[in-house]
Amino acid sequence: MRLLLVEDNPALGGLISAGLIRQGFAVDLCGSLDEAVEARGLAPYDVVLLDLGLPDGDGLDLIRRMRREGDPTPVLVLTARGELGDRVAGLDLGADDYLVKPFDVAELAARCRALLRRPGACLGVVLRAGNLALDTTSRTVTVSGAAVAVPPREVALLEHLLRREGQVAPRASLEHHLYAMDAEVTPNALEVSVSRLRKRLAAAGADVRLRTVHGVGYALVAPNRGDSADA
Ligand code: CA
Repeated sequence: MRLLLVEDNPALGGLISAGLIRQGFAVDLCGSLDEAVEARGLAPYDVVLLDLGLPDGDGLDLIRRMRREGDPTPVLVLTARGELGDRVAGLDLGADDYLVKPFDVAELAARCRALLRRPGACLGVVLRAGNLALDTTSRTVTVSGAAVAVPPREVALLEHLLRREGQVAPRASLEHHLYAMDAEVTPNALEVSVSRLRKRLAAAGADVRLRTVHGVGYALVAPNRGDSADA
């Protein structure tokens, strides 16, 4: 999941984005309205996290602009205490949620996931294929009910593949969802993540396969229903 964070306080922006990256999100940080408008033009985002007081204007203008353009991307407003009026105005303009500063990054991550589970992005809280399950809220992976330790980036990769089970997820789309624009991504970073995840799942006895489609991308393939012993 890829987030656009619009926050002009560099220390706070850095702290929030580091926390979200640890939770498995890809984050692009912008410090002004202009930068945010430019970033939106370059890449689609799953959620926009928006501070209201920005050096070149009011964050509410961005929401107004997005909704006018028919952009349905969820917006979560990050507001200072005492900006109650702004907060209500933001929700009226089409923001989806708000969080009052200071907040816990874990809470912010949970709110982002909740926004992504809304209709449109919704496929249920637990994604399943074969004997594998991924709880999109707790970010836990289980095989036949037993927990498997999977690092956040690989959980994000697995989630992306599970949501498209049986279809090929193109490389570019996977990279886009897993890495922020300015992240140092080595050319084979995705292969490495896929290969580690494949080993982890195999060691845990998962019956799904992560198939490489050369030159295109990757697909998660569930076992044939006829092949799997349900008993
Ligand atoms: Ca600000």
